[in-house]
Amino acid sequence: MERIVEIALPPREAADAVLVREAAAEAAGLELDSVRGCRVRKRSIDARSRAPLVRLRIELSTDHPLDEEVERPELPDVGGAPPVIIVGCGPAGLFAALTCIRLGRRPVVLERGKDVRSRRRDLAAINRAHIVDPDSNYCFGEGGAGTYSDGKLYTRSDKRGDVGAVLRTLVAFGASPDILVDAHPHIGTNKLPGIITAMREAIIAAGGEVRFGTRVVELLRSGGRVSGVRIEAGEELLAGAVILATGHSARDVFGMLHAGGVRIEAKPFALGVRIEHPQAVIDRIRYHCDVRDPYLPPASYNAVQQVDGLGVYSFCMCPGGIIAPCATAPGEVVTNGWSPSKRNNPFANSGIVVEQPVAVFGAPGDPLAGVAHQRAIEQAACRAGGGRQSAPAQRMEDFIARRDSTDLPPCSYQPGIVPVPLDVVLPQGTASRLREGLKAFGAKMRGYRTNEAVLVAVESRTSSPVRIPRDQATLQHPELAGLYPCGEGAGHAGGIVSAAMDGMRCAEAAVTAPV
Ligand SMILES: Cc1cc2nc3c(=O)[nH]c(=O)nc-3n(C[C@H](O)[C@H](O)[C@H](O)COP(=O)(O)OP(=O)(O)OC[C@H]3O[C@@H](n4cnc5c(N)ncnc54)[C@H](O)[C@@H]3O)c2cc1C
Repeated sequence: MERIVEIALPPREAADAVLVREAAAEAAGLELDSVRGCRVRKRSIDARSRAPLVRLRIELSTDHPLDEEVERPELPDVGGAPPVIIVGCGPAGLFAALTCIRLGRRPVVLERGKDVRSRRRDLAAINRAHIVDPDSNYCFGEGGAGTYSDGKLYTRSDKRGDVGAVLRTLVAFGASPDILVDAHPHIGTNKLPGIITAMREAIIAAGGEVRFGTRVVELLRSGGRVSGVRIEAGEELLAGAVILATGHSARDVFGMLHAGGVRIEAKPFALGVRIEHPQAVIDRIRYHCDVRDPYLPPASYNAVQQVDGLGVYSFCMCPGGIIAPCATAPGEVVTNGWSPSKRNNPFANSGIVVEQPVAVFGAPGDPLAGVAHQRAIEQAACRAGGGRQSAPAQRMEDFIARRDSTDLPPCSYQPGIVPVPLDVVLPQGTASRLREGLKAFGAKMRGYRTNEAVLVAVESRTSSPVRIPRDQATLQHPELAGLYPCGEGAGHAGGIVSAAMDGMRCAEAAVTAPV
């Protein structure tokens, strides 16, 4: 007999498998001795009351044990199969490659950046020497923008694909099985490279190809459809289907498409700053305590407010995290955030961004207007920070009061921060909405407004400023058969899980399309 029960326990008890089993058996009205299997199916933190609880959905069995191993998928040998070209080795590209193999086609993954291990050196060069390699940075390289991230795996777009399949694949390649049960799962920067390497090794072992240092510079066409790609070194690679999964920062790809007459469209995105508080401040707000219970995870928050017709919201919050320098070219400063799996750094950072509808920046008919808008602000941030990767920053209360910060608090952003009034960097309508948004967040979260918090500019790569259109049924570009715009860069995903799901969908469409 199998039973599902819901229980709520104090954090320390919820971390003890024996106590969980006892509480679940009691809730199910079963004798403890009769329980043969006990498995957590869902885990979430309920911090509404003064004493936070961990809510657990538990499956019990009186017949058999319930330990379930997630197996690596059996992949067929596709060495001799027709190729599908996949441009970009981010989550969309990697999951597209695995899906191609599963369906019997040979993926050829082309990635401008380096493998995860070599990529580390280039990240160190950004942090320490302020040198940005335009092909190898926090956005470009094996695993894409998600590799050196917090690895949050929460998505709202669960109607667009099988979230469980993505999570199980990540577990099969080395992620903790906890991600299958946590309400807000995350992997952490220290674990992601190993998982991504294992995925690449499986793709190659099945006969697929993964080529690093291989930047695609042109789409080849024949008979009105895509027939392959040209890479920077001049080589031409041919295939009947090209999945273009190049991410939100591949501005040269948007330029290449536009120059080649492939229709692309400007799309709204969001822009603002990254805010950093001491983690203890956020823990106090969320858990109503002076010191966080060691059995509770570092707290996170989600905030949203409408200001003068536009949304101001928190984005990609990283508890116990580090603010990362995410520029993809010299002369720009861009922030985002990452956390290790334990989220054990003393700071909590989050993007706080303001919607940028096309009307805010749009030159009518210019699909690259959003890119120009993003770039101008990132370059302004770089100039204001001193022309290197140091970022302009201002204490939160100083920003709200329009007062210069004479000094800055400690901050996790490794290239360093420089006191600058952020109105110099941000567009006026964005800065004023940010101010009102922060005031509203402070009213909802007591203690959030503090001059211990620092705003670091600029958070600009929240999503792609361009959409590459595609037919809803075939997923091919409406005017260029064989081209599958895919993932976040094409405007069809936002985040690791949704990009992975989109990669799977595009691969299925590419493999099953009549040629
Ligand atoms: C620091 C940071 C933290 C983040 N944290 C999270 C998080 O916690 N949770 C979450 O869901 N999302 C997070 N994100 C966002 C997430 O990483 C992206 O949404 C996701 O990676 C998008 O996947 P993608 O495959 O569509 O594109 P990308 O991951 O951007 O991959 C695109 C790949 O294409 C390659 N490429 C580009 N142009 C070319 C070319 N011409 N030729 C060959 N290759 C090319 C790039 O080098 C890159 O590797 C974070 C992003 C960053 C930067």
